[in-house]
Amino acid sequence: MTATLGGTELAAGIRGEVATAAAELAAAGTPPGLAVVVATADESSAWYVRSIARAAERTGIACSVVDLGETATPDEIRVELAALSGDPAVHGIILQTPLPADAVVEDLAASIDPAKDVDGANPLSLGRLAAGLPAFAPATAEAVLALLDHHGIPLSGAHAVVVGRSTVVGKPAAHLLLQRDATVTVCHSRTKELAEVTRSADVLVAAVGRPELLTAEHVAEDAVVIDVGTNPTPDGGLVGDVDAGSVTGRAAGLTPVPGGVGPVTTALLLRHTVASARG
Ligand code: NAP
Repeated sequence: MTATLGGTELAAGIRGEVATAAAELAAAGTPPGLAVVVATADESSAWYVRSIARAAERTGIACSVVDLGETATPDEIRVELAALSGDPAVHGIILQTPLPADAVVEDLAASIDPAKDVDGANPLSLGRLAAGLPAFAPATAEAVLALLDHHGIPLSGAHAVVVGRSTVVGKPAAHLLLQRDATVTVCHSRTKELAEVTRSADVLVAAVGRPELLTAEHVAEDAVVIDVGTNPTPDGGLVGDVDAGSVTGRAAGLTPVPGGVGPVTTALLLRHTVASARG
C-alpha cells in the first residue's frame, strides 16, 4: 500500500497563514510586495509565473511581473535586480528561469538583496544555508522538507538519497536533510549503479528533470519518495521524475505530480515574502 503524500492541504494552510500576516502588515502600513523578473518567452515558465502572481494576489501580496524580454542582456537583468533590491515597496524578488543563453543565474542572482531573496537564489543564501546560518532556502528544496514533516516522516538517522545536484533543488535539499540529521547521499548524471544507490534510501528525493526516470527498480520496499520533477507532456499534462505507476505498491509513500511539491513551493515563496516584509 503506497500512501499519497499530497501537498495541496499543506499549501492551503500556509497560504491561510500568509493571508493573515499580509493583512496585518498592510494594516500596519507595510503591504507586502513581490516582484518576478522574467527574461524568457518560455511558455511553461509563463504558466508558472502566472500561478505565482495569482496565488500572491489571493493572499494579499502585490505581485509585479517585470518582463525584460528574451533579448535582455545580463547587465540589464542585473540593473533591474539591483533597482528592485532598493525599492522599499518590494520585499521579495524572484529571478525566473530559463534565462538568455549568455546569462548565469547564480551570477545574476548575486544582485538580489539577500534579505529579499525569497527563492534563495543568491549564492550568499546557499552559502549561509550550508553553514547553518539563517537564510531563505530555495522554496522547492524547503517544500521537500515541509512535505516530509507534514506527513510525519522521521528523518534523524534515515538514509536520504537525493537524485540531482542543481543549485536550486538538489544541493539545498541535501543541506536541509543534513541539518535534520539524515545521512545524505547525492546522485547525479555520472553516478554509477544509480538503482543500487537509490534502493538503499529510506527517503528518496527525485530532482532530475527526466520524465519517469526512476522506476520500481530504483526504490526500496517501504521507502518514502518525494518527486520534485515537473515535466510537461505533449498533451499539456505534467509528469514527475518518478514512474508513479511502477512505484505504487512498492514505496510506502509517494508525492503526486501535480499536487505534491509544486503547490507547497509556491506557498513557501509567499511565506518568505511576508517574513521579509516583517523584517
Ligand atoms: P537541473 O538543473 O536540470 O538538474 C538536474 C540534475 O539531475 C543534475 O544534477 C543532473 O546531473 C541530474 N541528472 C540528469 N540526468 C540524470 C540521470 N540520468 N541520472 C542521475 N542524475 C541525472 O534540474 P532542476 O532545476 O534541479 O530541476 C529538477 C526537476 O525539478 C525538473 O523536473 C524541474 O522541472 C523540477 N522543478 C520543480 C519545481 C517545483 O516547484 N515542483 C521547482 C523547480 C524545479 P548533472 O549535475 O551531472 O548534470
